[in-house]
Amino acid sequence: MDTRKVQQVVIGQATTDGAGVDLVRVIGQPALMDLDPFLLLDAFRSDDPTDYIAGFPAHPHRGFETVTYLLNGRMRHKDNAGNEGVIEPGGIQWMTAGRGIVHSEMPEQQDGLLEGFQLWINLPGAHKMDRPAYQEHDAANIPTESRDGTTVKVISGVTSRGTTGPVSQPLTDPVYLDVTLQPGTEFNENLTTDHNAFVYVINGQIVLEDDEGNQLNLGRDQLAVLGKGDTVTLQSGNQESRFLLVAGKPLNEPVARGGPFVMNTEAELRQTFIDYQSGNF
Ligand code: FE
Repeated sequence: MDTRKVQQVVIGQATTDGAGVDLVRVIGQPALMDLDPFLLLDAFRSDDPTDYIAGFPAHPHRGFETVTYLLNGRMRHKDNAGNEGVIEPGGIQWMTAGRGIVHSEMPEQQDGLLEGFQLWINLPGAHKMDRPAYQEHDAANIPTESRDGTTVKVISGVTSRGTTGPVSQPLTDPVYLDVTLQPGTEFNENLTTDHNAFVYVINGQIVLEDDEGNQLNLGRDQLAVLGKGDTVTLQSGNQESRFLLVAGKPLNEPVARGGPFVMNTEAELRQTFIDYQSGNF
């Protein structure tokens, strides 16, 4: 067994996006520009409507996938192909933007807590221009695996105990787990050895080992980049702790990034802006 060690601890950067939504950018900021195939991780959590009410009015995407996972609150999604729906608490929307989509993501609430994550996952060059697609699942559709002192919501991937998440994406083979540990509980999970992986703490405190054998305490809103290896081992501290464990197959391709577009080359990026501005999305 080769246990994955922490390579880097990242603290998100407070920022504003959309029409004025306060959020924390964890991946996609100077401390961690990307973690192939992951291009961006935003965390949002506020019970102050002025932080979120402006939402994300119509905007485009091309070349990758956006994964929205809501813990609290509701978000209405609408796109230029006529698709529309509301993401409810515990629900996931896995959107393959592919060759291009224009959509809005707006809070479906006037007040109360809005909490969740948006993760961007890259697509290989050969699939950046695929047709847009959605995989949407509400909380009831996401299996919960119970272990001793542990519950694991499996959004994507297959756990070591055989629980399979509803989302499938063979291009990057993602694992997306939402794990809650009772105090003083150890968690072990297998991951494909050479896939990139991270842990993001939602609540409580977890303990992980780094390359030098130090025990690191990670708290709320901290992300640990994990080194290569076939297993993840961590413990919760003296309180209930909740974290995301996410892994995926690196694409090892050049990344040309321009706001909501992610292609392989600058020329493709320029073409994307032309396509969007001329209404070809
Ligand atoms: Fe979007």
